[in-house]
Amino acid sequence: MEKSMQTVELKSMFINGEWTQAQGGGMLRVVNPATGEEVGTVSYGDHLDARAAVDAAHQAFPGWSRLTARERSKYLYQLYELVRSHRDELAGIISAEMGKPLREAKGEVLGAADNFMWYAEEAKRVYGETVPSSVPNKRIMVSRHPVGVVGAITPWNFPVNMVARKIAPALAAGCTVVLKPAESTPLSAIKLFELIAQAGFPAGVVNLVIGQPETVGQELLDNPKVRKIAFTGSTRVGKLLMEGAAKHVKRVSLELGGHAPFIVFEDADLDAAVVGLFESKFRNSGQMCICTNRLYVHESVVEEFSAKLIERLSKAKVGDGRSKETEIGPLVNQRALDKVLRHIQDAQEKGGEVVFGGKRLTEGEYGKGFYCEPTVITGVTKEMEIAGEETFGPVVPMMTFTDESDVIQMANDTSYGLAAYAYTRDSSRCFRLAEALEYGIVGINDGAPTQTQAPFGGWKESGLGLEGGRYGMDAFLETKFVSFGV
Ligand code: NAD
Repeated sequence: MEKSMQTVELKSMFINGEWTQAQGGGMLRVVNPATGEEVGTVSYGDHLDARAAVDAAHQAFPGWSRLTARERSKYLYQLYELVRSHRDELAGIISAEMGKPLREAKGEVLGAADNFMWYAEEAKRVYGETVPSSVPNKRIMVSRHPVGVVGAITPWNFPVNMVARKIAPALAAGCTVVLKPAESTPLSAIKLFELIAQAGFPAGVVNLVIGQPETVGQELLDNPKVRKIAFTGSTRVGKLLMEGAAKHVKRVSLELGGHAPFIVFEDADLDAAVVGLFESKFRNSGQMCICTNRLYVHESVVEEFSAKLIERLSKAKVGDGRSKETEIGPLVNQRALDKVLRHIQDAQEKGGEVVFGGKRLTEGEYGKGFYCEPTVITGVTKEMEIAGEETFGPVVPMMTFTDESDVIQMANDTSYGLAAYAYTRDSSRCFRLAEALEYGIVGINDGAPTQTQAPFGGWKESGLGLEGGRYGMDAFLETKFVSFGV
């Protein structure tokens, strides 16, 4: 049975191959951030639903993990085809429940499909090895094994692709999964699970629990049947999960917050840098972990660069993500909007100057939506909240520099280490930056560096472990060494 939007849908959890409702009878409203209107109501569970899902995943694990890699791969291919062919529908749901512009939402869905395809292939390449022994009568064999039941927790900002990036490698490796998506975006998870159901995965292999973060999260941590927590979200929650996982020494993968610097050198192609900054700052309305959060422009080009940036921003269409013209959608909810406006106000109070935008949009088409103008602030200093904390909105805090080693030091002066960007035409400097920036992802003359086959993960407090490509499989595999006496 298809689950559709704009309906009260109680049977919205997928546990042991069945659509089911929350045992406690809870319900959750889903609101379109572009209009403030309800787009659906879904079942909202707790630890009891999580426990049922874990039991199902635990029961399904022996069968699923014993399938050959080729057999598991077939299911993932099937899912790849289904996700691609439902691209427009999935993108429409993403846009309606979290405001993402349709073009970006379609790109996200294709990215998710790509993950299912990539890991359908990667499943077949989980190789072991033999290692030469130091003694003649022994043989060393090293093999890889699925870690077991995975508890996956995902955020709302890429509600389909974040799920794909976890469940695709987990399933490919032979793990079974309980997914808890974010509260703001259950509808895209439900649609994805309809496709999972159509792909015919055996019952219990992939389960969906929409529910209270704290109680569902606690069950995933406390239940010894769960062997791995795969999380994407804030550094605050990541730390809580890491602490909780210690009790049973569960494996954890954490994809957490970022505070990306974006450096424009005096020899940069300024037009290309504006394109790169727009991609890295305004995509998803600035709600990406790899978003630029601090812009450093060489003093000698700051006027020219600012003029080009402001010209670009003045042409950017802010609006409902479901409209084709929209380049920048609303923020996900009131809380997100409040945080962005607070950061702007704090910067102003501490001497920053808003040179473009700076306000909530409420007139006409914007109505009750959670819109903020694209904003540029100059005169930013370290004391401002915006210079140290993730803003998660369409605001560029701009600073200037004169010296390469100073700007590298400023760029690295943060507890985060996810993404960093730099624009320069000097090839030696490109290498110096690639080596000196303490970040898991560095875009040199590239404002949108992520690709399915590349590793994605943060240094420092931005995370632990990697997603993407062959690196993403490691997160779901244990290594076994067997010594044979011969
Ligand atoms: P969040 O940490 O509030 O929520 C993420 C998920 O954790 C949601 O599903 C939420 O319900 C759940 N959660 C919240 N409290 C929990 C608890 N106590 N126990 C268990 N689960 C809990 O983050 P968010 O606001 O949804 O997402 C934005 C954050 O995610 C930003 O910090 C962003 O940088 C980060 N992010 C990181 C990456 C990455 O790959 N590094 C990608 C996207 C987003």
